[in-house]
Amino acid sequence: MQIGDIIRFLETLAPPSLQESYDNAGLLTGSAAWKCTDILVSLDATEEVILEAKQKGCNLVVAHHPIVFGGLKKITGKNYVERAVIASIKNDVALYAIHTNLDNVITGVNAKMAERLGLVNCKILQPKSGLLKKLFCFVPVSHAEFVRAAIFDAGGGHIGNYSECSFSAAGKGTFKAADGSNPFVGEIGKRHEEEELKIEVIFPAWQEHSILSAMIKAHPYEEVAYDVVSLDNRLQTTGSGLIGELPKPLIPNDFLQLLKDQFNLTVIKHTIPPAKSIHRVALCGGAGSFLTKTALASGADAYVTGDVKYHEFFDAENRLLLADIGHWESEQFTIDLLADHLQDKFPTFAVLKTAVKTNPVEYFK
Ligand SMILES: [Zn+2]
Repeated sequence: MQIGDIIRFLETLAPPSLQESYDNAGLLTGSAAWKCTDILVSLDATEEVILEAKQKGCNLVVAHHPIVFGGLKKITGKNYVERAVIASIKNDVALYAIHTNLDNVITGVNAKMAERLGLVNCKILQPKSGLLKKLFCFVPVSHAEFVRAAIFDAGGGHIGNYSECSFSAAGKGTFKAADGSNPFVGEIGKRHEEEELKIEVIFPAWQEHSILSAMIKAHPYEEVAYDVVSLDNRLQTTGSGLIGELPKPLIPNDFLQLLKDQFNLTVIKHTIPPAKSIHRVALCGGAGSFLTKTALASGADAYVTGDVKYHEFFDAENRLLLADIGHWESEQFTIDLLADHLQDKFPTFAVLKTAVKTNPVEYFK
């Protein structure tokens, strides 16, 4: 098994194209062609984590945060980023980061937070648009079902909880084959008319290559007529933050206690709780203050995130319990999420969780 095989699986969990423009997720050091020994999972790929990987026989560290974020102009070991890069290269430990692309899927970082709180009916708080495309293809009636099935098999036609969604309309296609062609029906030099179906299927943009390949492979024509268009529809399963409901409403103090217990917190920074019980809860792992207004507009009673600055607490407008539980604390269970997926998929590998607590923030009690 090569590191590339592990990466291909991780990319099915969180397609790299879903990462934000400022991000640097993906393979940072090492090679996809290396034979993978074992895997170590962490939130941060610090020098200490890389040395831990080496010591435990893992030549791949899968981390949430990319240790190299901006560019590196010198690699002399002067700061923690350069030292991590040096350690990884010296010890032949590959670094792979699965960052905002894992934040942006409904089954990612935030799903794990929601699971800790027992939230139900979870939806993406701010779904992304510009990620959906539609394929229109024109298929002779005799082959319509075969082509449709191939598109579904390649991942097309998912809308919410429904799969194999498509629309077909009947019509007539015409074509005249030129010399040198090898038409499936009709004669060279004569216009042919064929009963065809126009099949329409929606799909996420990152599946375009596999869906078009599957459609063209299944289609009987030498030259396949098709259109791909970009849609403005939002893709409800991708985007920032999550909103769900507690199984039963809690008074604010009980909700804060639940947070404290479930995330093993010593302290929570929060706004003055509004005089209402907490039922709808929005959350976003990591630095999520950019979503406070969206949480408020979506009717959340509480919004749980990390890295909230002084002035940003005012965005709660006294109508929302805004709780800053800490960046690392909010994302800590991402390690379990990744390790569980990897261990399920690759049972012959040891998938270890780091024993290093990489959180640089301490609380003086
Ligand atoms: Zn983070």
